[in-house]
Amino acid sequence: QAKQGGRNGMRFFDQGMQDHINARADMERALRIAIDLHQFELHYQIQVDQHGRARGAEALVRWRADGKMMSPAQFVPLAEETGLILQLGSWVLEEACARLRAWQEDPGLRALTLAVNVSAAQFHQPGFCEQVRGAVARHAIDPRLLKLELTEGIVLKNVEVAVQSMAALRAMGVRISLDDFGTGYSSLQYLKRLPLSQLKIDQSFIRDLVNDRSDQAIVTTIIAMARSLGLDVIAEGVETPEQRALLQKLGCFHYQGYLYGRPVAVADFEQLVLGPPSATPRA
Ligand code: C2E
Ligand code: MG
Ligand code: MG
Ligand code: MG
Repeated sequence: QAKQGGRNGMRFFDQGMQDHINARADMERALRIAIDLHQFELHYQIQVDQHGRARGAEALVRWRADGKMMSPAQFVPLAEETGLILQLGSWVLEEACARLRAWQEDPGLRALTLAVNVSAAQFHQPGFCEQVRGAVARHAIDPRLLKLELTEGIVLKNVEVAVQSMAALRAMGVRISLDDFGTGYSSLQYLKRLPLSQLKIDQSFIRDLVNDRSDQAIVTTIIAMARSLGLDVIAEGVETPEQRALLQKLGCFHYQGYLYGRPVAVADFEQLVLGPPSATPRA
């Protein structure tokens, strides 16, 4: 088919490939510069309990490039392929610990947990636990307020090593949540060996939960698994009161999703938790 297109067809194809390679190289260069210049920020998405009270947040990284915000789906995969995720991940961890430190100073914020996403390369790099220990110590934070979000894929990459690292993190007091739960290949067999604190039900099971019987069956099973393993369970991607009501009925009491708030810059997040600043007249 390509041959029939003749020289022009081939040239067109080559040009397309070349454009793709150039665009990728441009983006990699831009990403390196962004890391050097710290052109990232963390946005915070609220997590609530069954009474609608704020219990914590998930930190989600954003890249501010040429005045616009880029979402992690657009650059985290490239950061992972190029190894730049290690530097980016270190920055995210430092920033998150600094934020927890700041929240310690405010009675309205000091009980909040903060969840940080960790990528495979970051988790499996030698010295990751020491990096976490260092960040916790440097910022003098309560390690129990820091939650690391790992995916099943990260753990399955090397279960033996993962269990050891997770145990070391848990021994420090840091909590571990299994993100996007249900999309991987979890079996109770290995789940019971993991020193987890929480299962996070993937949003793909929440989307059609109210109408889809199989999603209801899966979510029910996940909640039962969590209960039998003594783990907390949180649902992500909760967008409607109907979804929330059904989750509560099924026994899930922690929620994250647009129903409660989108990921927002820190000032907006703090205002969401604390309520609007008091209307004290200024001098
Ligand atoms: P994730 O950890 O599963 O994060 C949840 C994603 O769902 C976020 O997308 C969040 O904005 C979105 N979300 C939250 N509530 C709702 C909802 O009610 N409806 C819908 N449709 N979506 C909702 P985001 O911020 O674009 O992040 C995408 C992914 O990028 C994350 O998935 C995570 O895997 C990765 N990521 C984000 N920040 C970091 C980071 O600092 N380090 C690493 N390694 N990965 C990160
Ligand atoms: Mg996450
Ligand atoms: Mg998730
Ligand atoms: Mg996800």
